[in-house]
Amino acid sequence: MATGEFELIRHYFCRGPGAFGAPLGIGDDCALVAPPTSKHLAMSMDTLVADVHFPQHADPELIGERALRVNLSDLAAMGASPLWFTLGLTIPKAESRWLEGFSKGLFNVAHEYDCALIGGDTTRGPLNICIQVHGVVSGSNALLRGNAAVGDIVFVTGTLGDGAAAVAIIKQEFEVGKSAFDYFMSRFYRPEPKVREGKLLCGIARAAIDVSDGLLADLGHICEVSGVGAVVNVEQLPISEPLQKLAEPAQSRNWALSGGDDYQLCFTVPRAKLDRLELLLHQGKLQATAIGEIVRGKGVTCLRDGEAFPVVRPGYQHFGNDRA
Ligand SMILES: [Mg+2]
Repeated sequence: MATGEFELIRHYFCRGPGAFGAPLGIGDDCALVAPPTSKHLAMSMDTLVADVHFPQHADPELIGERALRVNLSDLAAMGASPLWFTLGLTIPKAESRWLEGFSKGLFNVAHEYDCALIGGDTTRGPLNICIQVHGVVSGSNALLRGNAAVGDIVFVTGTLGDGAAAVAIIKQEFEVGKSAFDYFMSRFYRPEPKVREGKLLCGIARAAIDVSDGLLADLGHICEVSGVGAVVNVEQLPISEPLQKLAEPAQSRNWALSGGDDYQLCFTVPRAKLDRLELLLHQGKLQATAIGEIVRGKGVTCLRDGEAFPVVRPGYQHFGNDRA
């Protein structure tokens, strides 16, 4: 990019001194960080491609929010506390209005979760946002995918299906009134990474994952890595009120099972620790619903009133006309 463009980018992304443990952030060849020696560093990277993961012409502030939120969700799923992130930003042109909105959304989330931007790179090309988040967790406490055991109860935080409904609304497959539109757009662009919940679940949950690709797919990952199966009772799936109003029960159940973009935590708890979880639920520190159980075998089976429940698995939904 031309020098003027670099200046513009510096203007929007260089903010203040280094964060805790990061004596040197943006502006040198590398960021220098000093993670706490007693913890493990948790790192995760997600790339968001325009018209695949979000509509190209969406409000840049919302794109900035979503980009960091979905990355923080992976730290949440490990029980890690966010510290820093780096940003690889590819933009068609350095446009101040877009950069202003994008950086505003990005830093809103960075402040909310106390996660500092410490470096990155900018290039010209088709809009693409790549973020790597860094956090810390006690190694022995980290929530892994591979620890689920037969007899564990499967839980999910919050509600499921809103993300998939939002995608359908963005693609104009559903018409909704303003308040429903605002609700679902907020669910899509401003998902809440369950960082606080992930930390609370350390020492209680045996396995955890964030629901980014859909409950069946993500719980399936836990089962595969743990060498177990799972049964999900579909009538126990938590569905938000706006989604119950928007769609038929069969549709909302399918979105809850197979739609992505919810960023809730799916976790398994051994029976011996259920009382500790129930205390957190009772105290209102955590919102979660029991949806099934870990069993012997392979894969995830869905039941409704004890009978097999057929699931319609939608293909991955893209936004653009050009299916990538
Ligand atoms: Mg994940």
